[in-house]
Amino acid sequence: MPIRLYNSLTGKKEEFVPKDPANVTMYACGPTVYAMSHIGHARSAVSFDVISRYLRYSGFRLTYARNYTDVDDKIINRANEEDVSCDELAERYIKAFDEDMASLGVLLPDARPRATQTIGRIIALTSALIEKGFAYASGADVFYSVRKKKDYGKLSGKNIDELEAGARVDVNEAKADPLDFALWKGSKPGEPAWNSPWGMGRPGWHIECSAMCMDRLGETIDIHGGGRDLIFPHHENEIAQSEAYTGKTPFARYWLHNGFVNIAKEKMSKSLGNILNIRDALTGHTPEAIRLFLLSSHYRSPIDYTQESLKDAENAVDRLYKTIERVDRECPEANGKEHRDEQWFAPIIEAMDDDFNTAMVIGLLFKEVSLANRLLDEGGRDNAQELSRILSLIKEASGFLGVFDKAPEDYYKLRRAVIGLKISPDEIERLISERNEARKTKDFKRADEIRRGLLEQGVVLEDAPDGTKWSA
Ligand SMILES: [Zn+2]
Repeated sequence: MPIRLYNSLTGKKEEFVPKDPANVTMYACGPTVYAMSHIGHARSAVSFDVISRYLRYSGFRLTYARNYTDVDDKIINRANEEDVSCDELAERYIKAFDEDMASLGVLLPDARPRATQTIGRIIALTSALIEKGFAYASGADVFYSVRKKKDYGKLSGKNIDELEAGARVDVNEAKADPLDFALWKGSKPGEPAWNSPWGMGRPGWHIECSAMCMDRLGETIDIHGGGRDLIFPHHENEIAQSEAYTGKTPFARYWLHNGFVNIAKEKMSKSLGNILNIRDALTGHTPEAIRLFLLSSHYRSPIDYTQESLKDAENAVDRLYKTIERVDRECPEANGKEHRDEQWFAPIIEAMDDDFNTAMVIGLLFKEVSLANRLLDEGGRDNAQELSRILSLIKEASGFLGVFDKAPEDYYKLRRAVIGLKISPDEIERLISERNEARKTKDFKRADEIRRGLLEQGVVLEDAPDGTKWSA
């Protein structure tokens, strides 16, 4: 079965046919590095992380690039406010973003270009667009002439005349048309600037992504991704200038856009003051719960972040690890056995092949978790074959979902480190005494239950000749 994906460019679900299956290319717009990243950035990065993992899982050789926009008005303003250099500010937030992504289990893309390291290419593209008649210099600025390309608006479905009617009278008299956008901006004193044929200046945002994308992946790429908010004008402009430059259509064969994260049904915005940083979300929640929460909806749908939804995700992750651990305990022969036949994994593949439907996959996995618990209730050892199938299923899917990939013990330790110890030392000591009693009376089931119960709370027991010690 081929992978089918929803292409924003055509508005249809299409079969994924890469230009060259041996060299699939994907680019996703990364963050503008002037502040801590929020949960919306996490959603985009996690979505394209899973897509890249799954394409590889399906056998494609993929090169995936995600950029950092490290020169921008917002960076300049923030650097001035803090009285630090733009480089220093950008470097700080690139580091923070990378740390946040690592926490969330987002694998490093193959290429992580920065705008400031692609200036030569940006100037070359801008010069070529002027030569081809698609752009014009005006003083120290260069603008792209939107009306020069007839299919402008094809991604967003916007019509040039309607845009024109809605355009505010532009105060920038350097532009020939209010719709035109800047490819290059002459710099004001104190701003980061590079030498160019138009004087000292810096690139506009849209041309940066065209240049970084072509620089790393070539003139025509397979998949271009980003958040839904980037469709217009960023991606529309990327298409216009890239296709005008190369003369090749389409610039990207498939455009994939992830949906927004709303906070308690409100759009995240500065004015509402409800922007949720990844770091804040990670306080009191395991990264795995956040990742599961993000993957529990289809990547294109909007999702609503609430404390309850996070709690639900946290409980679901707990439930899954508890089940794996229960299988280990009650039916150890189920573990380590690879279970493969033609159909065992088909429903999961079918869901992922259908526009990367992780929501469906997670639903299927939790059905299996319920089944595993039922089989264990009925007597695990009689169901070893079926239980081994379920364990294999979880393990296989965890490779591209990037969740449920730990040993239960490691998960419990991590959870304790994040959530803290929810049990008092007195209670731990009491349980240790109860366990000692149970062992004396050869009630090993109860003794083991206590040990496992404590482990689930992140408390590790160690039996030594001079008694049982605990650590957390
Ligand atoms: Zn971009």
